[in-house]
Amino acid sequence: DAAAPQPRIHRLDEAVVNRIAAGEIIQRPASALKEMLENSLDAGSTQIIVTVKDGGKALLQIQDNGHGVQKEDLPILCKRHTTSKLRAFEDLTGIQTLGFRGEALASISYVAHLTVTTMTQGAVHGWRAVYEDGVLDASGPKPTAANKGTLISVEGLFWNVPLRQKALKGAAEEYHHILDVMGRYAVYKAGVSMSCKRQGEARSDLHTLAGASRLDNIRAVFGAAVAKNVLPLELMKGGGAAGPCPTGGSGGCGEFSGGGDDGGVHCEVEGFVSNADYCGKKTQLVLFINGRAVECTPLKRAIEATYAAVLPKAAKPFAFLEVRLPGSHVDVNVHPTKKEVGFLHQEDLIEAIRTAIEEKLLGSNSKRTFAQTL
Ligand code: ADP
Ligand code: MG
Repeated sequence: DAAAPQPRIHRLDEAVVNRIAAGEIIQRPASALKEMLENSLDAGSTQIIVTVKDGGKALLQIQDNGHGVQKEDLPILCKRHTTSKLRAFEDLTGIQTLGFRGEALASISYVAHLTVTTMTQGAVHGWRAVYEDGVLDASGPKPTAANKGTLISVEGLFWNVPLRQKALKGAAEEYHHILDVMGRYAVYKAGVSMSCKRQGEARSDLHTLAGASRLDNIRAVFGAAVAKNVLPLELMKGGGAAGPCPTGGSGGCGEFSGGGDDGGVHCEVEGFVSNADYCGKKTQLVLFINGRAVECTPLKRAIEATYAAVLPKAAKPFAFLEVRLPGSHVDVNVHPTKKEVGFLHQEDLIEAIRTAIEEKLLGSNSKRTFAQTL
Protein backbone atom coordinates (compact mmCIF):
# COMPACT_ATOMS: atom_id res chain seq x y z
CA ASP A 1 0.00 0.00 0.00
CA ALA A 2 1.13 3.53 -0.85
CA ALA A 3 2.91 5.40 1.93
CA ALA A 4 1.72 8.93 2.68
CA PRO A 5 3.87 11.44 0.82
CA GLN A 6 6.65 12.85 2.94
CA PRO A 7 5.60 16.45 3.87
CA ARG A 8 8.14 19.13 3.02
CA ILE A 9 8.84 22.23 5.05
CA HIS A 10 8.72 25.60 3.34
CA ARG A 11 8.71 29.20 4.44
CA LEU A 12 5.36 31.01 4.51
CA ASP A 13 4.87 34.24 2.56
CA GLU A 14 5.38 37.32 4.69
CA ALA A 15 1.82 38.44 4.03
CA VAL A 16 0.47 35.10 5.27
CA VAL A 17 2.61 35.27 8.40
CA ASN A 18 1.44 38.79 9.11
CA ARG A 19 -2.21 38.02 8.49
CA ILE A 20 -2.01 35.12 10.95
CA ALA A 21 -0.25 37.31 13.52
CA ALA A 22 -2.82 40.06 13.00
CA GLY A 23 -5.59 37.67 13.96
CA GLU A 24 -4.07 37.20 17.40
CA ILE A 25 -4.14 40.89 18.19
CA ILE A 26 -7.21 41.98 16.28
CA GLN A 27 -10.06 39.62 17.06
CA ARG A 28 -13.00 41.93 16.50
CA PRO A 29 -13.72 45.64 15.96
CA ALA A 30 -13.44 46.34 19.70
CA SER A 31 -9.87 45.00 19.82
CA ALA A 32 -8.84 47.27 16.93
CA LEU A 33 -10.52 50.17 18.72
CA LYS A 34 -8.72 49.37 21.98
CA GLU A 35 -5.34 49.49 20.25
CA MET A 36 -6.13 52.78 18.54
CA LEU A 37 -7.58 54.29 21.71
CA GLU A 38 -4.39 53.36 23.57
CA ASN A 39 -2.35 55.00 20.81
CA SER A 40 -4.39 58.19 21.12
CA LEU A 41 -3.87 58.21 24.89
CA ASP A 42 -0.15 57.50 24.46
CA ALA A 43 -0.05 60.52 22.13
CA GLY A 44 -1.23 62.74 24.99
CA SER A 45 -4.70 63.45 23.59
CA THR A 46 -7.27 65.33 25.65
CA GLN A 47 -10.12 64.71 23.25
CA ILE A 48 -10.97 61.48 21.43
CA ILE A 49 -13.92 61.07 19.09
CA VAL A 50 -14.94 57.65 17.77
CA THR A 51 -17.37 57.04 14.92
CA VAL A 52 -18.63 53.57 14.08
CA LYS A 53 -20.56 52.08 11.19
CA ASP A 54 -22.13 48.62 11.27
CA GLY A 55 -20.62 47.72 14.65
CA GLY A 56 -17.16 48.70 13.40
CA LYS A 57 -17.25 46.13 10.60
CA ALA A 58 -17.75 48.75 7.89
CA LEU A 59 -15.98 51.67 9.56
CA LEU A 60 -14.08 52.42 12.74
CA GLN A 61 -12.83 55.96 12.92
CA ILE A 62 -10.92 57.58 15.74
CA GLN A 63 -9.92 61.20 15.89
CA ASP A 64 -7.60 62.59 18.54
CA ASN A 65 -5.82 65.85 19.32
CA GLY A 66 -2.54 64.22 20.36
CA HIS A 67 1.00 64.90 19.15
CA GLY A 68 0.47 63.47 15.68
CA VAL A 69 2.98 61.65 13.47
CA GLN A 70 5.80 63.34 11.59
CA LYS A 71 5.75 63.03 7.81
CA GLU A 72 9.15 61.30 7.84
CA ASP A 73 7.73 58.50 10.02
CA LEU A 74 4.70 57.83 7.82
CA PRO A 75 6.49 55.32 5.51
CA ILE A 76 7.16 52.98 8.47
CA LEU A 77 4.08 53.78 10.59
CA CYS A 78 2.34 50.50 9.73
CA LYS A 79 5.36 48.22 9.38
CA ARG A 80 5.58 45.47 11.98
CA HIS A 81 7.80 46.18 14.97
CA THR A 82 8.04 49.92 14.36
CA THR A 83 7.39 51.97 17.48
CA SER A 84 8.33 55.25 19.09
CA LYS A 85 7.88 53.76 22.57
CA LEU A 86 10.39 50.98 23.20
CA ARG A 87 14.08 50.62 22.35
CA ALA A 88 15.70 48.02 24.53
CA PHE A 89 14.10 44.91 26.01
CA GLU A 90 14.94 46.21 29.48
CA ASP A 91 12.66 49.21 28.84
CA LEU A 92 9.68 46.85 29.20
CA THR A 93 10.13 46.97 32.96
CA GLY A 94 8.15 49.91 34.18
CA ILE A 95 7.05 50.99 30.69
CA GLN A 96 4.73 53.99 30.94
CA THR A 97 3.06 53.83 27.54
CA LEU A 98 0.24 51.44 26.73
CA GLY A 99 1.83 50.37 23.45
CA PHE A 100 5.33 49.02 23.05
CA ARG A 101 5.48 46.35 20.35
CA GLY A 102 4.69 48.34 17.25
CA GLU A 103 2.27 45.70 16.02
CA ALA A 104 -1.20 47.19 16.27
CA LEU A 105 -1.33 49.43 13.23
CA ALA A 106 0.59 46.85 11.19
CA SER A 107 -1.89 44.16 12.19
CA ILE A 108 -4.88 46.32 11.34
CA SER A 109 -3.42 47.18 7.92
CA TYR A 110 -3.15 43.46 7.10
CA VAL A 111 -6.85 42.84 7.73
CA ALA A 112 -8.49 46.15 6.77
CA HIS A 113 -8.16 49.32 4.69
CA LEU A 114 -6.32 51.84 6.83
CA THR A 115 -6.14 55.59 6.25
CA VAL A 116 -4.24 57.98 8.50
CA THR A 117 -4.55 61.75 8.51
CA THR A 118 -2.17 63.46 10.89
CA MET A 119 -0.75 66.83 11.75
CA THR A 120 1.93 67.75 14.28
CA GLN A 121 1.96 70.86 16.44
CA GLY A 122 2.80 73.99 14.47
CA ALA A 123 2.66 72.37 11.02
CA VAL A 124 0.86 74.39 8.33
CA HIS A 125 -0.95 71.37 6.96
CA GLY A 126 -1.39 67.70 7.65
CA TRP A 127 -0.71 64.51 5.67
CA ARG A 128 -2.99 61.77 4.53
CA ALA A 129 -1.58 58.29 4.05
CA VAL A 130 -3.20 55.06 2.90
CA TYR A 131 -1.85 51.65 3.95
CA GLU A 132 -2.26 48.08 2.73
CA ASP A 133 -0.44 45.06 4.21
CA GLY A 134 1.88 47.23 6.28
CA VAL A 135 2.93 49.30 3.29
CA LEU A 136 2.31 52.96 2.55
CA ASP A 137 0.51 53.50 -0.75
CA ALA A 138 3.08 53.93 -3.57
CA SER A 139 1.95 57.49 -4.29
CA GLY A 140 3.04 58.47 -0.77
CA PRO A 141 1.45 60.80 1.78
CA LYS A 142 -0.73 63.61 0.36
CA PRO A 143 -0.83 67.07 1.89
CA THR A 144 -4.21 67.90 3.34
CA ALA A 145 -5.95 70.35 5.63
CA ALA A 146 -6.13 68.86 9.13
CA ASN A 147 -6.35 69.59 12.82
CA LYS A 148 -3.45 68.93 15.14
CA GLY A 149 -3.63 65.27 16.03
CA THR A 150 -4.45 62.07 14.22
CA LEU A 151 -7.50 60.68 12.47
CA ILE A 152 -7.45 56.98 11.67
CA SER A 153 -10.08 55.25 9.57
CA VAL A 154 -10.34 51.48 9.45
CA GLU A 155 -12.67 50.24 6.74
CA GLY A 156 -13.80 46.75 5.82
CA LEU A 157 -12.27 44.95 8.80
CA PHE A 158 -11.44 41.32 7.86
CA TRP A 159 -12.40 41.88 4.20
CA ASN A 160 -9.61 39.42 3.34
CA VAL A 161 -10.23 36.96 6.23
CA PRO A 162 -13.68 35.55 5.39
CA LEU A 163 -13.75 33.07 8.26
CA ARG A 164 -13.05 35.75 10.83
CA GLN A 165 -15.60 38.02 9.21
CA LYS A 166 -18.24 35.31 9.47
CA ALA A 167 -17.38 34.72 13.13
CA LEU A 168 -18.21 38.31 14.07
CA LYS A 169 -21.49 38.96 15.83
CA GLY A 170 -24.17 41.37 14.64
CA ALA A 171 -23.56 45.12 14.52
CA ALA A 172 -25.37 45.73 17.83
CA GLU A 173 -23.24 43.25 19.76
CA GLU A 174 -19.95 44.37 18.21
CA TYR A 175 -20.87 47.97 18.98
CA HIS A 176 -21.64 46.98 22.55
CA HIS A 177 -18.08 45.64 22.88
CA ILE A 178 -16.71 48.92 21.51
CA LEU A 179 -18.71 50.93 24.04
CA ASP A 180 -17.50 48.60 26.79
CA VAL A 181 -13.85 49.28 25.96
CA MET A 182 -14.45 53.02 25.69
CA GLY A 183 -16.42 53.13 28.92
CA ARG A 184 -13.58 51.55 30.89
CA TYR A 185 -11.00 53.99 29.58
CA ALA A 186 -13.40 56.91 29.93
CA VAL A 187 -13.61 56.30 33.69
CA TYR A 188 -9.92 55.52 34.13
CA LYS A 189 -8.78 58.47 32.02
CA ALA A 190 -11.32 60.89 33.47
CA GLY A 191 -10.38 64.37 32.35
CA VAL A 192 -9.86 63.28 28.75
CA SER A 193 -13.03 63.94 26.80
CA MET A 194 -14.23 60.85 24.92
CA SER A 195 -17.21 60.28 22.74
CA CYS A 196 -18.52 57.45 20.63
CA LYS A 197 -21.37 57.41 18.17
CA ARG A 198 -22.76 55.58 15.21
CA GLN A 199 -22.14 57.24 11.87
CA GLY A 200 -25.07 59.37 10.78
CA GLU A 201 -26.52 59.65 14.29
CA ALA A 202 -26.55 63.07 15.93
CA ARG A 203 -26.39 61.70 19.48
CA SER A 204 -23.36 60.11 21.07
CA ASP A 205 -23.88 56.82 22.89
CA LEU A 206 -20.99 57.63 25.17
CA HIS A 207 -19.81 61.09 26.03
CA THR A 208 -17.55 62.41 28.74
CA LEU A 209 -16.41 65.96 29.33
CA ALA A 210 -12.94 67.42 29.57
CA GLY A 211 -12.05 67.89 33.22
CA ALA A 212 -14.72 65.49 34.54
CA SER A 213 -14.00 63.36 37.61
CA ARG A 214 -14.09 59.57 37.71
CA LEU A 215 -17.37 59.68 39.57
CA ASP A 216 -18.79 62.02 36.89
CA ASN A 217 -17.75 59.50 34.28
CA ILE A 218 -19.10 56.50 36.20
CA ARG A 219 -22.41 58.39 36.04
CA ALA A 220 -21.99 59.22 32.35
CA VAL A 221 -20.99 55.69 31.36
CA PHE A 222 -22.67 53.31 33.83
CA GLY A 223 -25.64 55.46 34.84
CA ALA A 224 -26.94 57.39 37.81
CA ALA A 225 -28.08 54.25 39.67
CA VAL A 226 -24.47 53.09 39.84
CA ALA A 227 -22.94 56.51 40.54
CA LYS A 228 -25.16 57.24 43.52
CA ASN A 229 -24.50 53.85 45.06
CA VAL A 230 -20.72 53.65 45.04
CA LEU A 231 -18.28 54.16 47.89
CA PRO A 232 -14.72 55.34 47.41
CA LEU A 233 -12.13 52.69 48.20
CA GLU A 234 -8.48 53.34 48.85
CA LEU A 235 -5.76 51.03 50.03
CA MET A 236 -2.10 51.53 50.51
CA LYS A 237 0.23 48.73 51.14
CA GLY A 238 3.44 50.34 52.16
CA GLY A 239 6.74 48.65 52.65
CA GLY A 240 8.61 50.26 55.52
CA ALA A 241 8.45 53.61 53.83
CA ALA A 242 4.79 54.07 52.98
CA GLY A 243 4.08 57.71 52.41
CA PRO A 244 0.84 59.40 53.33
CA CYS A 245 -2.21 58.70 51.24
CA PRO A 246 -1.67 60.65 47.99
CA THR A 247 -5.20 61.93 47.76
CA GLY A 248 -6.21 62.02 51.43
CA GLY A 249 -9.85 62.94 51.30
CA SER A 250 -13.06 61.30 52.28
CA GLY A 251 -12.27 57.67 51.56
CA GLY A 252 -9.19 57.48 53.68
CA CYS A 253 -6.56 54.82 53.18
CA GLY A 254 -6.70 51.58 55.03
CA GLU A 255 -3.33 49.97 55.32
CA PHE A 256 -3.10 46.29 54.67
CA SER A 257 -0.39 43.94 55.63
CA GLY A 258 -0.72 41.32 52.92
CA GLY A 259 0.43 37.78 53.47
CA GLY A 260 3.45 38.06 55.66
CA ASP A 261 6.94 38.87 54.51
CA ASP A 262 6.89 40.16 50.97
CA GLY A 263 9.90 42.40 51.15
CA GLY A 264 8.06 45.67 51.69
CA VAL A 265 6.32 45.93 48.34
CA HIS A 266 4.55 49.21 47.89
CA CYS A 267 1.24 49.12 46.14
CA GLU A 268 -1.89 51.19 45.98
CA VAL A 269 -5.51 50.53 45.12
CA GLU A 270 -7.97 53.28 44.42
CA GLY A 271 -11.50 53.02 43.16
CA PHE A 272 -15.22 52.87 43.72
CA VAL A 273 -17.28 49.89 44.82
CA SER A 274 -21.04 49.56 45.03
CA ASN A 275 -22.71 49.83 48.44
CA ALA A 276 -25.28 47.59 50.12
CA ASP A 277 -28.17 49.36 48.38
CA TYR A 278 -26.92 48.67 44.87
CA CYS A 279 -28.52 45.75 43.13
CA GLY A 280 -26.82 44.90 39.87
CA LYS A 281 -27.90 42.08 37.57
CA LYS A 282 -24.37 41.04 36.71
CA THR A 283 -21.02 41.65 38.29
CA GLN A 284 -19.17 44.50 36.67
CA LEU A 285 -15.46 44.80 37.37
CA VAL A 286 -13.50 47.56 35.67
CA LEU A 287 -9.88 46.85 36.52
CA PHE A 288 -6.74 48.74 35.62
CA ILE A 289 -3.33 47.52 36.70
CA ASN A 290 -0.55 50.02 36.14
CA GLY A 291 -2.66 51.86 33.61
CA ARG A 292 -3.79 48.86 31.59
CA ALA A 293 -7.35 47.64 31.28
CA VAL A 294 -7.06 44.01 32.28
CA GLU A 295 -9.18 41.11 33.42
CA CYS A 296 -8.59 39.09 36.54
CA THR A 297 -11.11 36.32 37.04
CA PRO A 298 -9.91 35.31 40.54
CA LEU A 299 -10.35 38.90 41.74
CA LYS A 300 -13.78 39.13 40.16
CA ARG A 301 -14.86 35.90 41.84
CA ALA A 302 -13.47 37.07 45.20
CA ILE A 303 -15.38 40.36 45.00
CA GLU A 304 -18.56 38.55 43.98
CA ALA A 305 -18.21 36.14 46.91
CA THR A 306 -17.69 39.01 49.35
CA TYR A 307 -20.92 40.70 48.32
CA ALA A 308 -22.78 37.40 48.35
CA ALA A 309 -21.58 36.72 51.90
CA VAL A 310 -22.35 40.16 53.31
CA LEU A 311 -25.56 41.13 51.53
CA PRO A 312 -28.87 39.39 52.08
CA LYS A 313 -30.05 39.36 48.48
CA ALA A 314 -28.20 38.10 45.46
CA ALA A 315 -27.13 41.55 44.35
CA LYS A 316 -24.24 41.66 41.93
CA PRO A 317 -21.62 44.34 42.56
CA PHE A 318 -20.02 47.09 40.53
CA ALA A 319 -16.35 47.83 41.10
CA PHE A 320 -13.89 50.17 39.46
CA LEU A 321 -10.37 49.52 40.72
CA GLU A 322 -7.09 51.08 39.81
CA VAL A 323 -4.13 49.07 41.08
CA ARG A 324 -0.62 50.49 41.06
CA LEU A 325 2.25 48.08 41.58
CA PRO A 326 5.99 48.52 41.15
CA GLY A 327 6.83 48.17 37.44
CA SER A 328 9.21 45.34 38.28
CA HIS A 329 6.27 43.30 39.63
CA VAL A 330 4.12 43.43 36.53
CA ASP A 331 4.75 41.58 33.29
CA VAL A 332 2.82 43.38 30.56
CA ASN A 333 3.97 41.00 27.87
CA VAL A 334 2.01 37.85 28.73
CA HIS A 335 -0.89 38.19 26.30
CA PRO A 336 -1.08 39.25 22.63
CA THR A 337 -3.89 41.71 23.28
CA LYS A 338 -2.31 42.82 26.56
CA LYS A 339 -5.63 41.80 28.08
CA GLU A 340 -3.89 39.99 30.87
CA VAL A 341 -0.85 41.04 32.80
CA GLY A 342 1.12 38.84 35.13
CA PHE A 343 1.87 40.18 38.58
CA LEU A 344 3.54 39.05 41.78
CA HIS A 345 1.71 38.57 45.09
CA GLN A 346 -1.65 38.14 43.36
CA GLU A 347 -3.26 36.24 46.28
CA ASP A 348 -2.18 38.85 48.83
CA LEU A 349 -3.57 41.64 46.76
CA ILE A 350 -6.89 39.89 46.14
CA GLU A 351 -7.23 39.14 49.84
CA ALA A 352 -6.48 42.75 50.77
CA ILE A 353 -9.04 44.09 48.30
CA ARG A 354 -11.59 41.56 49.52
CA THR A 355 -11.05 42.58 53.15
CA ALA A 356 -11.24 46.28 52.35
CA ILE A 357 -14.53 45.85 50.51
CA GLU A 358 -15.93 43.76 53.33
CA GLU A 359 -15.04 46.50 55.83
CA LYS A 360 -16.60 49.14 53.59
CA LEU A 361 -19.80 47.14 53.35
CA LEU A 362 -19.93 46.57 57.09
CA GLY A 363 -19.26 50.25 57.65
CA SER A 364 -16.32 49.66 59.94
CA ASN A 365 -13.63 51.09 57.76
CA SER A 366 -13.52 54.55 59.34
CA LYS A 367 -11.80 53.23 62.49
CA ARG A 368 -8.83 52.11 60.50
CA THR A 369 -8.36 55.17 58.39
CA PHE A 370 -4.72 55.51 57.57
CA ALA A 371 -4.75 59.19 56.63
CA GLN A 372 -6.40 60.20 59.89
CA THR A 373 -3.99 58.33 62.11
CA LEU A 374 -0.99 60.15 60.67
P1 ADP B 1 2.92 50.81 19.58
O1 ADP B 1 1.75 51.52 20.17
O2 ADP B 1 3.19 49.49 20.23
O3 ADP B 1 4.13 51.67 19.46
P2 ADP B 1 1.36 50.84 17.15
O4 ADP B 1 1.37 49.97 15.94
O5 ADP B 1 0.10 50.86 17.94
O6 ADP B 1 2.55 50.38 18.07
O7 ADP B 1 1.75 52.30 16.73
C1 ADP B 1 3.00 52.51 16.08
C2 ADP B 1 3.48 53.92 16.30
O8 ADP B 1 2.65 54.83 15.59
C3 ADP B 1 3.46 54.39 17.74
O9 ADP B 1 4.64 54.04 18.43
C4 ADP B 1 3.31 55.91 17.59
O10 ADP B 1 4.56 56.51 17.42
C5 ADP B 1 2.55 56.05 16.27
N1 ADP B 1 1.11 56.32 16.48
C6 ADP B 1 0.09 55.44 16.39
N2 ADP B 1 -1.10 56.01 16.65
C7 ADP B 1 -0.84 57.30 16.92
C8 ADP B 1 -1.66 58.45 17.28
N3 ADP B 1 -2.99 58.34 17.41
N4 ADP B 1 -1.03 59.63 17.48
C9 ADP B 1 0.32 59.75 17.37
N5 ADP B 1 1.14 58.71 17.03
C10 ADP B 1 0.58 57.51 16.82
MG1 MG C 1 -0.21 50.94 20.08
